[in-house]
Amino acid sequence: MAKSFRGGVHPDDRKRYTATKAIEVAPVPVKVIIPTRQHIGAPCAPVVTVGDLVKKGQVIAEAQAFVSSPIHASTSGKVVEIADYPHSVFGSCVAIVIESDGQDEWLEGLPLDRQWKAMEADEIKDAIRQAGLVGMGGATFPTHVKMAPPPDKSIDTFILNAAECEPYLTADHRAMLEYTEKIVTGMQIAMKALGVKRGIVGVEENKPDAIAAMQKVCGVVGIEVMPLETKYPQGAEKTLIHVITGKEVPSGALPMDVGVVVQNVGTAIAIADAVERGIPLIERVTTVTGAAIAEPKNLLLRVGDTFSNAIAMCGGFKEEPMKVIAGGPMMGMAQSNIEAPIMKGTSGILALTAADVNPGVERPCIRCGRCVEACPMGLIPSMLSILGERGAYPVAKEEYDLLDCVECGSCVYVCPAKRNIVHYIKLSKAQNAAMAAKK
Ligand code: SF4
Ligand code: SF4
Repeated sequence: MAKSFRGGVHPDDRKRYTATKAIEVAPVPVKVIIPTRQHIGAPCAPVVTVGDLVKKGQVIAEAQAFVSSPIHASTSGKVVEIADYPHSVFGSCVAIVIESDGQDEWLEGLPLDRQWKAMEADEIKDAIRQAGLVGMGGATFPTHVKMAPPPDKSIDTFILNAAECEPYLTADHRAMLEYTEKIVTGMQIAMKALGVKRGIVGVEENKPDAIAAMQKVCGVVGIEVMPLETKYPQGAEKTLIHVITGKEVPSGALPMDVGVVVQNVGTAIAIADAVERGIPLIERVTTVTGAAIAEPKNLLLRVGDTFSNAIAMCGGFKEEPMKVIAGGPMMGMAQSNIEAPIMKGTSGILALTAADVNPGVERPCIRCGRCVEACPMGLIPSMLSILGERGAYPVAKEEYDLLDCVECGSCVYVCPAKRNIVHYIKLSKAQNAAMAAKK
């Protein structure tokens, strides 16, 4: 029986829209709008000015802190503007706008031809940092930080998070079928950099073709492929580690505290590109899907292309969408402006119709306990929502483990009272952070 975890929910995965659609390479956009903030951590500072000519792969914004990640031009051309632009996570953000010269010319010296097996661990980690890699499942945590555990943390297991448990999304599924060797190379490179012998791929069993493809290549290099029950949120980092290794990541701790590093499928591809060829993270596979999209697809898009262009490549809207989401329906962010650019973490663009969206009216909690059963983190979501609604933010943090919530939305999915539990949780987290900053 496939491995699983306590709690979770079984939403219709709706992957049928795009699971059989091969990745299509999008044309180079006429202009790219590249936000200076595409990761968890400090924003980057532009190192180009209006009028500069840039090449594809050139650094255009530098990291200002360790937990940050540089940003590169995704095509060659002229910097025509540095200004606030729509942003799919923060609403707006300073972006560097490059008008394409139509040449799509690499920075001199790129791509490289490096033999990763001959590289030292520190060289590999530096190549990953320079290439601006971040977690591409949506979390956008800088990859070089995860790859550099302090000396007192001994890592023994590398997990490839290939669960792709969010409904609708199929970018990782298709990548496992079409870029199998590169993903496995990325894993081997990461394992070498970490000095790890045990590598495991965790894939939900609703992707049997991807499991077979990965097993074929992984088997040759001693990496295990572990089928997992199709259940949301199978890909949440802490639940995945528990399911695969049996280890519990304690409250407030990180995977590296239990000797594990987890990276996503897209990030493994980016690791192989960065280390073997010196290619920075300037493009990604994004699933453009939902009942409002005329022809849903998996697209290989440049960072800085727009949601509206990606939707147009899929034949546009076949009916007026009720809601457009960046990411999947459970953890994605609702968008008010489809002119927002594609970023390193844009795993999906989902356009839902009125029939898909049934918000209902939020009512008081009836204490049915369904949210408690569904919570994969063992929390009491009903209490967290009530405390958030009442403004008792410190109580939620100190007595109800607020910070352990991974905002997966399973509690909202099952709640008969339509309580917006995640909204109250996010509010409580933000208020606690603001209170801590004032101290
Ligand atoms: S599922 Fe909703 S109604 Fe039931 S206990 Fe949780 S918050 Fe209350
Ligand atoms: S409380 Fe947080 S972790 Fe638990 S189900 Fe709700 S969103 Fe997920």
